[in-house]
Amino acid sequence: MKGLCILGATGSIGVSTLDVVSRHPDKYNVVALTANTNIDALYEQCLTHKPEYAVVVNEAKAAELKAKLADTEIKVLSGTKALEEVSSLDQVDSVMAAIVGAAGLLPSLAAAKKGKTVLLANKEALVMSGDIFMQAVTESGATLLPIDSEHNAIFQCMPSGYTAGDTAKQARRILLTASGGPFRETPIEELESVTPDQAVAHPKWDMGRKISVDSATMMNKGLELIEACLLFNMSPDDIQVVIHKQSIIHSMVDYVDGSVLAQMGNPDMRTPIAHAMAYPERFDSGVAPLDIFEVAQMDFEKPNLQRFPCLRLAQEAITAGGIMPTVLNAANEIAVEAFLNEKVKFTDIALIIEQSMAQFKADCADTLAHILAADKNARDVAENIIEALNR
Ligand code: NAD
Ligand code: MG
Repeated sequence: MKGLCILGATGSIGVSTLDVVSRHPDKYNVVALTANTNIDALYEQCLTHKPEYAVVVNEAKAAELKAKLADTEIKVLSGTKALEEVSSLDQVDSVMAAIVGAAGLLPSLAAAKKGKTVLLANKEALVMSGDIFMQAVTESGATLLPIDSEHNAIFQCMPSGYTAGDTAKQARRILLTASGGPFRETPIEELESVTPDQAVAHPKWDMGRKISVDSATMMNKGLELIEACLLFNMSPDDIQVVIHKQSIIHSMVDYVDGSVLAQMGNPDMRTPIAHAMAYPERFDSGVAPLDIFEVAQMDFEKPNLQRFPCLRLAQEAITAGGIMPTVLNAANEIAVEAFLNEKVKFTDIALIIEQSMAQFKADCADTLAHILAADKNARDVAENIIEALNR
């Protein structure tokens, strides 16, 4: 039995993880579940999975949950420090890092430093901290397994015994697939007036609101490009983004002998989650078998950087290096939130990020303090740009 902590248990990835856990009660024991504010969902999960700990970041909500769970053994904690506490517990072997955004960095990093098996969905944490995160994994001997479907696919296509962060010498290129999101064919001039509801209605994947907007701008693919550079120790020049609207191939690795290995399956996050949870074995995920005759056809096209300027900005950020990916990520989080709150237009998202990046130099990012300072400064800069836009 492995002890599991799920950071972000009430989100889309958290719920899919618990679905997989329910299929394998003999393999995983739920030690801790965390949420930001959604105590109704967390309460139900606590009754079903009986963790030792439940963490609610919001203090008032934590007190409410504590009262509701008073006649159980479950310990309810609150605050951001408690996230780090539960992801570092001795009885935790694996940590599903599924908090959205920069808020997930410290608890995910704590798990990496403690040498846990880190199942990484929270791409923003890796993008913003880059080498620092990868170093923590190497130094502690933690096992890092990607949950993002593309990176999990690439990992599956790597040579046997491959460890995240290594260079796979015979792999010359990664083909990183993307669905193209809901606006793949929308006339560019109409993008200005799309609404948050239209942006979060993803054609292939059912996900949280932030990542859904990222998919619509293709910043999600930009963050994933940076994530792939770090996880697979590759240059951005050796990673080609490919729009594949059917979302059946989840990415490919091109080898020096001309072989191109792809991982395929129905677009359901329970596949990469189950892969990482069972690794190096496999177990049932609950995902239906792929009906290849129903798929019938697969299309591939190059992304249009005029339509998707966020992808270009991510390429620029990783090429510049230093704190630039941190700045890109922070400005994106602020811009997406402003878009979801209807304070800025969809097309302003890229504008805000580009103007934010222009105010920073790609200084070194070799300590956590540098990263956290750059994250905070970029958030302030992006907020100011939004204010100016609304003036
Ligand atoms: P979501 O919005 O559905 O869930 C987010 C979770 O994080 C919730 O449990 C919420 O309570 C928690 N949370 C939010 N803000 C927090 C804060 N400030 N402090 C502590 N906890 C907080 O998001 P999701 O779609 O499940 O995505 C989670 C992560 O996984 C993201 O980084 C996303 O990019 C990544 N990811 C998601 C998918 C997917 O299919 N949903 C696929 C690949 C990668
Ligand atoms: Mg992905």
